[in-house]
Amino acid sequence: EVANGSGGLDSVKVPAIANPTAEKASEIASNISYHATFSPHFSPFKFESEQAYYATADSVRDRLLKQWNDTYYHFHKVDPKQTYYLSMEYLQGRALTNAIGNINLQGEYADALNKLGHELEEIAEQEKDAALGNGGLGRLASCFLDSMATLNLPAWGYGLRYRYGLFKQKITREGQEEVAEDWLEKFSPWEVARHDITFPIRFFGHIEIHPTGSRKWVGGEVLQALAYDVPIPGYKTKNTISLRLWEAKAGAEHFDLFQFNDGQFESAAQLHSRAQQICAVLYPGDATEDGKLLRLKQQFFLCSASLQDIIFRFKERRQRNSWQWSEFPGKVAVQLNDTHPTLAIPELMRLLMDDEGLGWDEAWDITTRTIAYTNHTVLPEALEKWSQAVMRKLLPRHMEIIEEIDKRFIASIRSTRTDLESKLPVLRILDDSNQQKPVVRMANLCVVSAHTVNGVAQLHSDILKSELFADYVSIWPTKFQNKTNGITPRRWLRFCSPELSNIITKWLKTDDWVTNLDLLSELRQFADNEDLQVEWASAKMANKQRLAQYILQVTGVQIDPSSLFDIQVKRIHEYKRQLLNILGAIYRYKKLKEMSPEERKKTTPRTIMIGGKAFATYTNAKRIVKLVCDVGAVVNDDIEVNKYLKVVFVPNYNVSVAEMLIPGSELSQHISTAGMEASGTSNMKFALNGCIIIGTLDGANVEIREEIGEENFFLFGAKADEVPRLRKDRENGLFKPDPRFEEAKQFIRSGAFGSYDYSPLLDSLEGNSGYGRGDYFLVGHDFPSYMDAQARVDEAFKDQKRWLKISILSTAGSGKFSSDRTIAQYAKEIWNIEECPVP
Ligand code: PLP
Repeated sequence: EVANGSGGLDSVKVPAIANPTAEKASEIASNISYHATFSPHFSPFKFESEQAYYATADSVRDRLLKQWNDTYYHFHKVDPKQTYYLSMEYLQGRALTNAIGNINLQGEYADALNKLGHELEEIAEQEKDAALGNGGLGRLASCFLDSMATLNLPAWGYGLRYRYGLFKQKITREGQEEVAEDWLEKFSPWEVARHDITFPIRFFGHIEIHPTGSRKWVGGEVLQALAYDVPIPGYKTKNTISLRLWEAKAGAEHFDLFQFNDGQFESAAQLHSRAQQICAVLYPGDATEDGKLLRLKQQFFLCSASLQDIIFRFKERRQRNSWQWSEFPGKVAVQLNDTHPTLAIPELMRLLMDDEGLGWDEAWDITTRTIAYTNHTVLPEALEKWSQAVMRKLLPRHMEIIEEIDKRFIASIRSTRTDLESKLPVLRILDDSNQQKPVVRMANLCVVSAHTVNGVAQLHSDILKSELFADYVSIWPTKFQNKTNGITPRRWLRFCSPELSNIITKWLKTDDWVTNLDLLSELRQFADNEDLQVEWASAKMANKQRLAQYILQVTGVQIDPSSLFDIQVKRIHEYKRQLLNILGAIYRYKKLKEMSPEERKKTTPRTIMIGGKAFATYTNAKRIVKLVCDVGAVVNDDIEVNKYLKVVFVPNYNVSVAEMLIPGSELSQHISTAGMEASGTSNMKFALNGCIIIGTLDGANVEIREEIGEENFFLFGAKADEVPRLRKDRENGLFKPDPRFEEAKQFIRSGAFGSYDYSPLLDSLEGNSGYGRGDYFLVGHDFPSYMDAQARVDEAFKDQKRWLKISILSTAGSGKFSSDRTIAQYAKEIWNIEECPVP
């Protein structure tokens, strides 16, 4: 079981890379032709969009790999402290436009493709989204990688190479249908298999105790983790880092040729098929015990492979004769993106103790100085708990280590904090309260073991400190931090809206804002300037027209680019309250129906677009999708009102769709029940693109509103600290619904949108259903203030000068939300790493 990686680096000379910007389009064109001709994947006689895309991607990848080699070699030589970001999810989206933009060769590649009879935009559409994530958390990880590379930080990502990423959403008469998304159908030009980088990963087995007392995990099944590197280029820098994705495989020795020849095909290849299951899908359904076991296997697979690789690299860089393990935390920082990679904690302990021979105290000191944890949710159902029995069976040694951490934590509380003894049942890591099903609380394991715990927006971090982790704060007052999320301005403005970017660059007289987003605040002084407003409006209109074209193409619905484009796109969840949005739309429709034609003319025409995927087994979320589709079908066909209102469900929301929708948006809805959305990141993307927000005081909305100005944000709804009392009031029958809310619900019940049975959804807003208590998400409470805020939006839109001013101020106030700022803070305040630019 010797881990093998790339060795002997010091003897390797990495060839110097020529200045890429000096290259001519014709050289690039011949490079693309070369790849088209010698592609092992296509016949050389065709050069249609698809072949052109793959040949172009291959040509870009060559450049990225050169830069990647330089970067790896440079980090090896300098040996800086390096961060490893562990995440079960990366929502990368498409890579081509982003990579060409980051290496600053847009013009050259566009010209080269023109010479070859293609358009860059057209061939970029050929790429499938790499959707190895569910939503915000995965997209955050991808934005972070872009910023780490751009800031020249010695930092990497580790993840899993899922065969099938997030499902493709099809909309049928029944609502959402999930279809496997085959992002590797042909192949991905953005990954390189590193056949020399493999590590053994064990499952099951037992513990062997040696006469010396040392322990060893043996037996069970052993698979191999094989590394695939996805190069991540920084913007206008040579630094190109890795997203290293692990794939599971079984060695040939596990293929029983004798059994196979004997006709026992399945048992002959048993381990191979189990290896395939590990990386088959993102988030296997966990309703069954087998599903849960598979998810735990995935988590361990990521943690074990990554830590073995990290330790391998640490040793590779210690060329001196003598070095000490105590140097490890000075060279390695590991960030856990939520609790999904928590097993990194016991795995690092195990590797240090059982493989490297360290004692508990030294291993614990190293582990706790290395690992930091980001919390992403306070929702109780999203706080991970694993059955102790499952854990003991799959990972016996890790369970033993977790028990020891728990035991030592209890002992330290009993000896130093007797005042907290009564709280131990909720503070300790193991939860034995349900004797039938004792569990391990992963968040508690993280808090006890990590040197730093951070929330992802100020409000969320405050709630963590004052509620979820309050007692821990009294034990470790300096452990808790806030790192407000951010987004990369490259993908989310510079490349997705070149029109608006060019205007910003023109008015700021520099494009430095792309890497120094605070410079956008300089736009404030021009917010009233008529010339800027005219240019701004024309860029927005171009984006709206492009979006209208797209909506027509994917839904068949014609939308009017002069209407107010009102968008809510995010995962469908009751706490995100798409139901509030659609109930508002239903009420609007009903009122429009009741108006005279003259009255209707005075209203603000709107196009309401809602998009997002519902988790496959989340029935109420799927009912919401169906309701939006049904409302759209009625409203859009109603010739009396459809000039004033359209309702569209945008299918298959993903990163590429977001890149189309966000630049064309004018109003976006971030309307979660206060206290429930940890941060949100699409709110930042919309604001950056000059879109105005209607929202609650939740997550990063609070900070966005502070930056953009209260008067430029359409606020409504209960505040986080009022929510518990409002829920109590409801339970005690003290809630009086607004008549508008009742009217909207009644309209659905009357069958206005078809015969589908919406009563379970509507009942969740009443009585005692839905999380066991009626209207847990307070849709009814917030409905009137939401409608009032929407009325203010309608009025504001009628005054286009005012609207454009707010739009410009939204962009101008978005500087804080660059992931460059977030990552610089992580680097300084958590990881203690410094930039390491490739010369
Ligand atoms: N899904 C996709 C495809 C995204 O691009 C984003 C963010 O932009 C999200 C989900 C997260 O959205 P939100 O922050 O609104 O939850």
